[in-house]
Amino acid sequence: MFMDREAELKKIHRLIKKCTKCRLSKARSNAVPGEGPIGARYMFIGQGPGKKEDLTGQPFVGKAGKFLDELLKKNRIDRKKVFITSTVKCLAPENRLPKKDEITACLPYTLRQIKLVEPKFIILLGRVAMKAFTPFKDLDKYHGKTIKVAKKAYFLTYHPASGMRFPAVKKKMKKDFKKIKEL
Ligand code: SF4
Repeated sequence: MFMDREAELKKIHRLIKKCTKCRLSKARSNAVPGEGPIGARYMFIGQGPGKKEDLTGQPFVGKAGKFLDELLKKNRIDRKKVFITSTVKCLAPENRLPKKDEITACLPYTLRQIKLVEPKFIILLGRVAMKAFTPFKDLDKYHGKTIKVAKKAYFLTYHPASGMRFPAVKKKMKKDFKKIKEL
């Protein structure tokens, strides 16, 4: 059973690697499907790949990734045991926000990943992920909270890139990540 899901996940990731469903496929070097084990307790979903992720095909390996690693380590969450991906799987030009139609085109991939991985908690990193997976718009109000949407448990917090830029956000993220460990 696990093997079937493993094989299915690999198949989805192969499809993502060659996907041309939206305009983001044009400028990317590599699509970044994400990584992590089937049955991971936590699935982290960010906004989209940055330059380093685009070059390597790996999720969260740039500066924001280092900050995410730091937060995970501080809370004794093993990165190898969580699934990490993003709302759109391809780099947006100039690192702009992904557009609504790009998010809509990419969403079925992440929904499939969620179905196959079956995480207990889906951690949404930042506003783009929050708006893509929940009906909420005000992250300042809902960060640090677990919200059930369509029988799935979503925990909302900020994007690590934002935490790195703004000390006040960093402080909030540190508190939020403590809560993740206690979920
Ligand atoms: S962002 Fe998603 S939908 Fe668009 S090309 Fe990349 S994988 Fe396909």
